[in-house]
Amino acid sequence: MRALEDLTFDNSYSRLPEVFYQRVNPMPFPNPHLVSFNPAAAELIDLNPGEALRTEFADFFSGARLLTGSEPLAMLYSGHQFGHYVPQLGDGRAILLGEVRNQKGEKWDLHLKGAGLTRYSRDGDGRAVLRSTIREYLCGEALHGLGIPTTRSLCIITGEEIVLRELPEPGAMLVRMAPSHVRFGNFEVFFYRRQHDNLKILADHVIQHHYPHLIKAKNRYARLLHEVAVRTGELIAQWQAAGWAHGVMNTDNMSILGLTLDYGPYGFMEEFDPSFICNHSDHHGRYSFQNQPDIGYWNIRALGQALSPLIEKDDVVKAPEIYEKAMIERYSELMRGKLGLVESHAGDDKLVTDLLNLMHSSRVDYTSFFRSLNEFQVNSDEPSSALRDQFIHREALDDWVARYWERLLAEKSQDEERKARMNRVNPKYVLRNHLAQKAISQATQHQDYSEIDRLLNLLSDPFIERSGMDEYAAPPPPGSAQIIVSCSS
Ligand code: AMP
Ligand code: MG
Repeated sequence: MRALEDLTFDNSYSRLPEVFYQRVNPMPFPNPHLVSFNPAAAELIDLNPGEALRTEFADFFSGARLLTGSEPLAMLYSGHQFGHYVPQLGDGRAILLGEVRNQKGEKWDLHLKGAGLTRYSRDGDGRAVLRSTIREYLCGEALHGLGIPTTRSLCIITGEEIVLRELPEPGAMLVRMAPSHVRFGNFEVFFYRRQHDNLKILADHVIQHHYPHLIKAKNRYARLLHEVAVRTGELIAQWQAAGWAHGVMNTDNMSILGLTLDYGPYGFMEEFDPSFICNHSDHHGRYSFQNQPDIGYWNIRALGQALSPLIEKDDVVKAPEIYEKAMIERYSELMRGKLGLVESHAGDDKLVTDLLNLMHSSRVDYTSFFRSLNEFQVNSDEPSSALRDQFIHREALDDWVARYWERLLAEKSQDEERKARMNRVNPKYVLRNHLAQKAISQATQHQDYSEIDRLLNLLSDPFIERSGMDEYAAPPPPGSAQIIVSCSS
């Protein structure tokens, strides 16, 4: 375990040509102090968790002091936002502090969000509010707890900085970590600028550091595209199975490693509704829950186009199909797992679709329902009232349950064994909006950060039931106000 000053940096991105980024230091704010620290992420970079207790800790992660060996930079990218190409985006309020190499030889970007102005800030102020920082911090760890690939969250620092959004709000910085923050948009910018040499340099960089088994492959750029397609398909299948919507699936928010990246107005679905839109500014529902698989397809096509100068046409055309196959297969497998099924039988997809339709018509809570299905007993004559009570159309549910029962018998499913398996895939707890909101209110109104740590702990393993935490598993109390979340805050 290391002290902050002893972290080992290896800044491979800063060795790329200068057109790929702007070298820029974070803009500190007065009186920085720690809001929350995540020891699980610290362990990934061999950072001694005791370091968070040092008064200087907040200085290092709020731009007041620079870590030895770090070479801060803002990355250039562009992207398709809501279907329209925007020629220049880039890190407008985030700065890559550097890449830490741990003792296992793994590399982790330390990315400081809310770090101040860069060349790519456009009309923005370069800052992030404490509210959105807490949301990103918690959800990164919540998805990780669910086993979904994502950026990780190291810490949040706040300070005496007021940021103006609809109203003045406290500002903050978030340190997030990932093996790479390269997005589809980092490629798109060089394709649309017709800088094909830079496109190749970036593809080689990504292959060298993140897809090293492709270094010597004959069609390495096509293989890269196809592997990204598979990872993206699997990622979106996992979002769908978890009932989670990202909210802003622009190509600049799509990770080249298939990670969940850039948390904004995301949401876990509560009452099941496929047309769920979590982003208040998404008026046409482009990024609704049910559209995510199609948008993934669209985005892989955009990446294929960006890489087309390096790849045979056939391989470009194939990429979205590869994405689709990976997404569908993974989704079917995950949903079978949520029903506790081990084997794959004809008709399983229909069993899932019919259930989802019933859940939709009765507006059943997505997470609670699947968790309660864990209690189903093949050998009981009593239909479970805990299941039935969640539905308005109970006869239709009974029909479905009869089919489910037969399906379980067909693979000789054992209650106890199945229950244990289902308890590892159907979470008890997810980051419901009202839970995040409670942590945010306490932090912004009372500088009380305890709820953030409580949620961080709970969601690090959302599958084990904890005593005294029932209210964290429950849907929001009836009549509680809808929380409105929209793009960049
Ligand atoms: P997002 O919607 O958060 O994915 O951001 C889209 C683009 O806007 C990215 O280039 C961001 O860096 C930039 N951006 C968002 N908020 C701000 C801000 N407050 N200041 C500067 N740039 C921002
Ligand atoms: Mg973004």
